[in-house]
Amino acid sequence: MLCAYYIMGGYWVVLVDLNCTVAKFFMHTCIPSIAAGQRKKRKTKAAGTRYDKVTIDIPRKKANGRRIWDKKHSCFYCEKDVSKMARHLEDVHNDERKVMEALTYPKLSKQRGFIFESLTRHGDYLHNLKVLHNKEGSLRVMRKPTQQQSEGRSLSDYGPCPGCYGFLIKSDLWRHCQKCEHYKAVTDQSESRQRGQMQRDSRLLLIGDAGFKGDQKFSSEVLTTVQDDDISQVAREDWLICTLGYDIFEQHGASQKKVISQSMRTMARFLQSARDVTSQNVNLEDMIAPEMFDTVVSAVHSLARRSQSDRSYPKYDIPSLALKVGNYLCHVQVF
Ligand SMILES: [Zn+2]
Ligand SMILES: [Zn+2]
Repeated sequence: MLCAYYIMGGYWVVLVDLNCTVAKFFMHTCIPSIAAGQRKKRKTKAAGTRYDKVTIDIPRKKANGRRIWDKKHSCFYCEKDVSKMARHLEDVHNDERKVMEALTYPKLSKQRGFIFESLTRHGDYLHNLKVLHNKEGSLRVMRKPTQQQSEGRSLSDYGPCPGCYGFLIKSDLWRHCQKCEHYKAVTDQSESRQRGQMQRDSRLLLIGDAGFKGDQKFSSEVLTTVQDDDISQVAREDWLICTLGYDIFEQHGASQKKVISQSMRTMARFLQSARDVTSQNVNLEDMIAPEMFDTVVSAVHSLARRSQSDRSYPKYDIPSLALKVGNYLCHVQVF
């Protein structure tokens, strides 16, 4: 049995199961000024996984089995789709500083190719950020996967090279960076770069897209170091979960990054549970709206694995998880 009561007229709700398996969480359900004004409501999307509408091109083939070379790049300056980028840059953007610099080098020279390649990959990188942000479109990767390779891969397997910004499979990043001239140009070659550092640098290039405006130290010391899996991806993509982590970081510093990481992962798991309950691509911000109260209860029940005991009392397999979610929901409502 659940009982609910309100404290201080502020619509704080505490739920307690009377069989002493406690599931308590707070929810500030009504601060109209914050809900309606300071927070910009984000659209929720239809049911399905977060990147249903994002694809990765695979090479097309002619009837005789030969490959069709139809790869397009997105122009760094005008965002148009272009197949011959060097020619496009020379013809259309020859008044841009970088292009002018490239044109001072002879045709087919290494230096000219280096600058054009950098502009091409930066253009594709900006295109990919837009695709990931809108969750719709085709990701432009450096090497298109074959049909067979694409079947076992997900979008989270791809990330940008911190040197050239080209998208590639994360597991190939280390090998790529050994050879990437752009990466060598931006890193101190006297320092030995660890494999993990490259992965962190790569993740850092995607964090700005979450809409979270934390500081660089938090991003580089905490966000990029958390375990890289689906749960941390959900956390990194939600500005309110990032803000929760940043708030704990400001209070306790990077020495508590495990605690920060755990809090963010807990809320990411809660968010995944809420998405399952609603069949919508909701954000944490959506979940603290008053009308979502019943959904929050259902999501917590599912997350903490609520079931009936032998004596018909409700019980939770992980009661502490419900408590933590409650505390963090209480924490984020003041942002
Ligand atoms: Zn252009
Ligand atoms: Zn590279």
